[in-house]
Amino acid sequence: EIVDFNMFLNRIIDRFEMTHKDDVDFVRNIPDTAIFTEIAMDKVGQVLDNVISNAIKYSNSENKRVEFHVKQNRLYNRMTVQIKDNGLGIPGSKVDRIFERFYRVDKGRARKMGGTGLGLAISKEIIEAHDGRIWANSVENEGTTIFINLPCETLEEDVWDV
Ligand code: ATP
Ligand code: MG
Repeated sequence: EIVDFNMFLNRIIDRFEMTHKDDVDFVRNIPDTAIFTEIAMDKVGQVLDNVISNAIKYSNSENKRVEFHVKQNRLYNRMTVQIKDNGLGIPGSKVDRIFERFYRVDKGRARKMGGTGLGLAISKEIIEAHDGRIWANSVENEGTTIFINLPCETLEEDVWDV
């Protein structure tokens, strides 16, 4: 389906906001204008659910914050969404491994939290099936940012206002 990614993301954040009224601050840096993209909403919704759940789950902070940034690159018909948390972070040597099946940074902690360690491996498959890319930046004890880059459409009228 072709959807306005910004509206799609806002709906998902609204849902998280309802269940985390008191413990998480959601900061939205999302353009008011639409970014149209052709995605399987259920699949990409699953990716965002996992990434946002991770951002909330892997944090001891008293003031949990999850920040969203959406940017369109019109020249290349691509868009990037960043989901940034102020949680536990991940040691540098392990950042790239979080996209492997069953990989978990802290086995003991992970066992207590439940889950399977498949969330990001599945997310990567889904994003790559959309001709997209997903990667992470992280600083231990500071937080993690997940980047998702996807193709998007440029409206015909936009072509003329370069
Ligand atoms: P599942 O998603 O299957 O319920 P999971 O959350 O453990 O389980 P992934 O979502 O694939 O699995 O994440 C893999 C591992 O990467 C996590 O166990 C955690 O160690 C680390 N990780 C993922 N996101 C973050 C984050 N935002 N901050 C810190 N660590 C993270
Ligand atoms: Mg997960």
